[in-house]
Amino acid sequence: MYRRVAIIGGGAASAALLSEILERQHASPVHLDWYTGGGSLGRGIAYGTRSDRHLLNVRAASMSMFVARPRGFLDYAQRGDHSIAGTDFLPRRMYGDYLEAEVRRSLDRAAELGHDVRVIPFAVDAIVPENDGVTVIQGEESTRVDAAVLALGALPPQPLGGVTEAALTSGRYIVDPWRFLASAQPSAEPFDVVLVGMGLTSVDVVLELAELWPKARFTALSRHGLLPEPHLAVSSAPTDDGSDLIESMLAAPDIRTWMRLLREAIRQTPDWRVVIDSLRPHTPSLWRALPREERARFLRHARWAWERARHRMAPQVAEALARLEREGRLVRRRGRMQAVDVKGDALQLELRPKGSAFNEQVTADYVIQTIGLNTDVRRAGHPLVNQLFTNGHITPDALGLGAEGTLEGRLRHGGATWPHFYAIGSMLRGTHWESTAMPEIRQQARNLADQLFGS
Ligand SMILES: Cc1cc2nc3c(=O)[nH]c(=O)nc-3n(C[C@H](O)[C@H](O)[C@H](O)COP(=O)(O)OP(=O)(O)OC[C@H]3O[C@@H](n4cnc5c(N)ncnc54)[C@H](O)[C@@H]3O)c2cc1C
Repeated sequence: MYRRVAIIGGGAASAALLSEILERQHASPVHLDWYTGGGSLGRGIAYGTRSDRHLLNVRAASMSMFVARPRGFLDYAQRGDHSIAGTDFLPRRMYGDYLEAEVRRSLDRAAELGHDVRVIPFAVDAIVPENDGVTVIQGEESTRVDAAVLALGALPPQPLGGVTEAALTSGRYIVDPWRFLASAQPSAEPFDVVLVGMGLTSVDVVLELAELWPKARFTALSRHGLLPEPHLAVSSAPTDDGSDLIESMLAAPDIRTWMRLLREAIRQTPDWRVVIDSLRPHTPSLWRALPREERARFLRHARWAWERARHRMAPQVAEALARLEREGRLVRRRGRMQAVDVKGDALQLELRPKGSAFNEQVTADYVIQTIGLNTDVRRAGHPLVNQLFTNGHITPDALGLGAEGTLEGRLRHGGATWPHFYAIGSMLRGTHWESTAMPEIRQQARNLADQLFGS
C-alpha cells in the first residue's frame, strides 16, 4: 500500500486505473499525481475522434471501464437512448464521452472524500526509478513518489524503410494517420490515395477520407490483401467453454500445432468466431507458454491472420467498405511497398506485387501508413520512452512488443524488476500479447489497483 502514486498518461488506461482506485474504500486519503499530457481526460487517440463513422470494434456490452460493473458503458449509452442494445457497435466518440464522464465523477467523489488528486495537464519529461521509490520530472518540478505507473498507449508511428527524406517532407507521405485525419479538410479533387497496411486503422482512414474527398480513389496494400473480418450482427453462442482446446494448446506450445488445433476446432463449429473469442481470456497464459522462437514464428507467419480474425470490424463498417469496392473507389492489392519518392507534384511508389520478381511504379497524391500500433521502445519517437530506454530504466521486449514486465505490471531493467515502477496497456504487449483493448486494460487496471492500494 503506497502513500503517493503517479499515473503517467491521459488516455483510457489511466482513466480506468484512476477510477478503479477512486471507486474503492480507503482507510486514509490517497495521494495521486495524474500527468495527462494535455488534451481531454481519458480519450486518447482512440476515443478523441469526433467522427461518428469511427465505431467501436467491440460490442457496447463488453466495453465497460470496470470489471466489477460489466454493464457500465451500456447503461451509460442507454440513459441517452433506450433503443441501444448491448450487441451494438457504437461511435468511439460516445465511448470517449463515457470515459470523460466517469473520470469527472471519480474526481468529484475523490474531492468530497478528501483524497488528494492532482491533475497535471502536461507531459512528463523524465523518470528515475529506484528501489525505494520513483522520481518524476516535469518541467522544473521534480516529485518523489512511492510508485509510478506508465500508461502511455501506443508509441508515435515511425516511417517505414525505403521512404526518401523528400517524400517525408513533401506533406504527401503520411506517417501518423490520426494526426492527418484530425486536420484533413473536405476536397473535390480526384486524389489517388495509397494506404500501406490493411488493418482497422486503414478502415478508419478510408471511411473518413471517402466522405471528405468524394472523388478520391483508394488503393489498400498489404501482404495478403485482406481487410479485417467482420463481426456478425449478433454474436453466435459458444457450443462449449473451449477448455479442451486450451488444454491441448497448452500441452503443445508450438505455432504449427496450434494452427492445426484451431483449424480442427473451427471445422466443428458453425461460426469460427466462437473459437477465436473463446481464446480471449486465455491469451496471456497461451502467450506465456510459447517459447521465444515460437512467439517470433507467430509474429512472422500467423500474426496477420490472428489480427484480422481477432480485431474485427463492425458489420456496418464492413458494408460501407464493400460499397466502396463495388463503386471501384477502393481497390485491394497484395504486395509490399519497397520505396517511395517524390515525382513532380506527386509521390511515386515502388510496389512489389505478391509473387512477382519485379517492382511496379504507382503514382499517388498521398501515401498513408496504416500499419498498426508501434510498440517498439527502441524506435519510440517519444521523448520520455527514449529517456527511459537510453538510461537503462526499461528493457525492450526482445520482439519489439513494448518493455519487459512482470504479470503484475512491474517493469524490468537489466535482468531485475523495479519494485515500484509499473506499466499498463500497450507497453506490456510482450508480457500479455493482447494488452491494448479495453477488456484487457480494465482487468489490468483492477489488478494494478490491488497492487497499489490493496484489494
Ligand atoms: C483508432 C483506435 C481505435 C480503437 N478502438 C478500440 C475499440 O473499439 N475497442 C477497444 O477495446 N479498444 C480499441 N482500441 C485500443 C485502444 O488502444 C484502447 O482501448 C485505449 O485507447 C488505450 O488507452 P491507453 O490509455 O493505453 O492509450 P492512449 O489512449 O493512447 O493514451 C495515452 C496517453 O498518454 C499520454 N502521454 C503520452 N506521453 C506522455 C507523457 N510523457 N506524460 C504524460 N502523458 C503522456 C497521451 O497524451 C495520452 O493521453 C483502439 C485503438 C485505436 C488507436
